[in-house]
Amino acid sequence: MKGHRQETVAEPLQQEVRAVFDPESVRADFPALAQTVHGRPLAYLDNAASSQTPQAVLDAMEHFYTRDRSNVHRGVHALSQRATLAYEAARETLAQYLGAASEREIVFVRGATEAINLVAWSFAAPRLAPGDEVLITHLEHHANIVPWQLVCEATGARLRVVPINDAGEVGLAEYERLLGPRTRIAAFAHISNALGTVLPVRKMTELARQRGVPTLVDGAQAVPHGPVDLRDLGCDFYVFSGHKMFGPTGIGVLWGRLNRLQGMRPYQGGGDMIASVSFEGTRFREPPHRFEAGTPAIAEAIGLGAAVEYLKGLDAEAVERYEAALLTTATEAVTALPGVRLVGSARERVGVLSFVMDGVHPHDIATILDQHGVAIRAGHHCAQPVMERFGVPATARASFAFYNTPGEVDALVAGLRQTVEIFA
Ligand code: PMP
Repeated sequence: MKGHRQETVAEPLQQEVRAVFDPESVRADFPALAQTVHGRPLAYLDNAASSQTPQAVLDAMEHFYTRDRSNVHRGVHALSQRATLAYEAARETLAQYLGAASEREIVFVRGATEAINLVAWSFAAPRLAPGDEVLITHLEHHANIVPWQLVCEATGARLRVVPINDAGEVGLAEYERLLGPRTRIAAFAHISNALGTVLPVRKMTELARQRGVPTLVDGAQAVPHGPVDLRDLGCDFYVFSGHKMFGPTGIGVLWGRLNRLQGMRPYQGGGDMIASVSFEGTRFREPPHRFEAGTPAIAEAIGLGAAVEYLKGLDAEAVERYEAALLTTATEAVTALPGVRLVGSARERVGVLSFVMDGVHPHDIATILDQHGVAIRAGHHCAQPVMERFGVPATARASFAFYNTPGEVDALVAGLRQTVEIFA
């Protein structure tokens, strides 16, 4: 019976995973999850675009706005001192969580995009001469393509791209071959936002290091799925956005090795980043303040610190196992539907299920699912070269967080089943 099958797709998982991690134990922490959309319970499966925020983050930000709100690093009065302490405490929380050598390695930026632009212009551009090369992969988000194109255009350097195979994986041999004597920086994703592919980042940074090539890892899709140990990863720069890791919008992190940051010019000039200013010349502060011109996103930084504290309270290993089981179940159920094809079948995949359906545009899929209360993303996911590689203009993408449930996978499958019927 169709109706019966609809409800039981994820049931075996329901029982199996409860023992590992129960998403119901955390859902109440996220106020936005407890709503209906078009009369149906919301199934929020667009986490790769932006995740939801726990109450603890909202509380931390409200505390700032209702008690400590003032500017940082400037005032001697109590509120400014409290604001400064809270802002800098967030930096320490981030540093400790990421395994940074010091909080001076944590630069608060607007997000992954700004962090990559900062490195492109302040680190790479002055080191690039005509004929030099910047190496990226075919899997990158536009945020890790366009800034490099711009610096290449300005300096006469050349952008080289590591190809991907039919599964959506980056080949290490190809990568190694393209790491040439003219490569000045290699920049690549930790996890692809379009396909969910996990890149062999440790091996990639190691190969680069052996050749003296600095590396930037775009961790925007990795940090929402578990702690990252930067000492272990071996890169020179690591970037991510707060809003994908359950923090506020408008805040993100550039982590850079201190010696790298110390050798870089500021990205923007203004207040708070200077040691002294005169019309004859200006001396800049040490990192990270050198890169934080103007009033920063204070409440958002505090909120991001609170998001990390929240994540630290979860059993990371259990979450990882749970998310893996949820993704496997969702992948099996969705690809069992008639006419559905998975896009990106990497052996190691996290968080993302990208697919197309014969004869149905992904936007139509997303629109029908929305009527079922199921939020997914349809489009090129700011990764047009990936779409081109797979010969599709767009995909439908369901992306998961630890608070998603097997029942939400059922809702996704039920909505897709109806989509198949409508377009049959
Ligand atoms: N890189 C990746 C892999 C992403 O998924 C995203 C966001 N989709 C970005 C970079 C850009 O992040 P933001 O828009 O928050 O700067």
